[in-house]
Amino acid sequence: MKLQLLHVTCAQCGRDSHVGVMPEGIHGQFVLRSTDSLDEAFLDTATDPTYEEVDALLNRSRRMIGKDDWFRAHALQRTYGETACDPDSTGSFFRIGKLPNCPLCGHASLHSWKALSPPAFIDREIAPVSHRAWLALSEAQKEFRVDDVLEDNGF
Ligand SMILES: [Zn+2]
Repeated sequence: MKLQLLHVTCAQCGRDSHVGVMPEGIHGQFVLRSTDSLDEAFLDTATDPTYEEVDALLNRSRRMIGKDDWFRAHALQRTYGETACDPDSTGSFFRIGKLPNCPLCGHASLHSWKALSPPAFIDREIAPVSHRAWLALSEAQKEFRVDDVLEDNGF
C-alpha cells in the first residue's frame, strides 16, 4: 500500500528520520500501532466487519448516551484496537491514530512530525490486523468488552 512519508524528530534520541503513514484523504483505512513496538497492522473497514460491529455496540453503550457524533467517533478510534484487535508482539494494544515510534531507537514520543514537501510516498505491505480473541467472544461478551474498554479509557 502507498504510505506518505513524514519527517520526524525523536524526543528521546533527538535524531531525524522518515516514517510512513496513511496518506491524508484516505477514508476507512487505518494503520494501527502500539506505544511499545514498531509493529504495525492494517485495517480496511470496507472488508473487515469488526470496525462497524464495535461501532454499533459502542453506540448502544450507556456511556455514549447524550454524546454527539464527533465524540462517539473519537471514542471508537481510541478504543477499537484494544477492544477488537489482537495485541502486538509485545502484548500491547494496537491503536488507530497512533503515530509511529522513532524507527531509530523505538521510543514512542516524537518531538515533531511533518509531511515531506513536496509530498513523498513509499510502497509497503502491512499485514492485516487479526481478531482471534474478539471472534471467540459471544455477543453478550462483546457488549461487555466494549463497555469495559470504554471505562478503562475514561469514557
Ligand atoms: Zn529515537
